[in-house]
Amino acid sequence: MSATTSTTGGITGATTSAARAEGVSKFYGTGDATIAALKDVHVSLDAGRFTAIMGPSGSGKSTLLHLLAGLDRPSAGEVYLGDTQISALGDNALTLLRRDRIGFVFQSFNLLPTMTAAENIVLPIRIAGRTPDEAWVASIVDRLGLTERLGHRPTQLSGGQQQRVAAARALASRPQIVFADEPTGALDSAAGTELLTFLRTAVDELGQTVVMVTHDPNAAAYADRVLFLADGHVVDEMADPTAAAVLDFMKHLGA
Ligand code: ADP
Ligand code: MG
Repeated sequence: MSATTSTTGGITGATTSAARAEGVSKFYGTGDATIAALKDVHVSLDAGRFTAIMGPSGSGKSTLLHLLAGLDRPSAGEVYLGDTQISALGDNALTLLRRDRIGFVFQSFNLLPTMTAAENIVLPIRIAGRTPDEAWVASIVDRLGLTERLGHRPTQLSGGQQQRVAAARALASRPQIVFADEPTGALDSAAGTELLTFLRTAVDELGQTVVMVTHDPNAAAYADRVLFLADGHVVDEMADPTAAAVLDFMKHLGA
C-alpha cells in the first residue's frame, strides 16, 4: 500500500493515518540472547482519534510506542509519522521531528523541578526558539484546571497536578500526535480519571490525536479503538471499547 491510497478516495468517514508501522520488528541483544520485542507489526493509527495499546507485561507495548514516536529505531520495517518515513531520518532530523511534531506523556511526569508549571509547559517551545501560542496554551491550562497553579514548582503540586502539567506541555505545541505510556500508572483513580477525561476532550474538542499504552481496562475504555499486543504481535483490536469487554479479552490473553 502506498502512503496515500488510504486517504485519496474521498470516501465519507475516511480517516488519515497519523502514524503507522509497516512490517516493523525490533530485536534486543545478539545471538542466543536475542529477544524479539516486536515481530512484523503492521498497524495504522488514525488521525483525530484516541487509540489505546494493551497487552500483557513484556508484550511489546512500550517498544511499539517508542518506535512510533521516533524514540528508538526498528530493526526491520518502516515507521511513518503522517507521510514522513521517520525510520529513514538521521538523528538530528529525528530529534527535531520529535520536538516539533510529537507530544509525550510518561508514567513519571518528567518535569524540571527548578521551573514553575508555566515554564515547564512552554519549555519545549522555548527550546525550539519559538513563541508559544498564548491563547491555545491558556485554553489547555484552563481545561486542565491549572490556571491557579502556574506559578508552582513540581514539588508544590500533587501527582495528579504534575501529570496535568505534563499533559499541558505535551499539547502546548499542537503536536501532530500525542504518545502516552501508562500515563495514569502513578496516579490515584480520581487523578487518573481527570487525566483520561482531558485526553478524551483533547481528541473530541481540540482535534488532537492520542495514542496511549495502558494495562488498565478502565483507561482503555476512554479510547476509540484498542489494539491488543501479545508476544510482539498485534493479535486483535476492538472498536468503541468498554472496560468490561476489554477486561474479558485480556483474560483470554492471559494478562
Ligand atoms: P511492555 O511495554 O508490553 O511491558 P516492552 O516493550 O517494554 O513490553 O518489552 C518487550 C520485550 O522486550 C520484553 O521481553 C522486554 O524484556 C524486552 N526489552 C524491552 N526493552 C529492552 C531493552 N532495552 N533491552 C533488552 N530487552 C528489552
Ligand atoms: Mg511498557
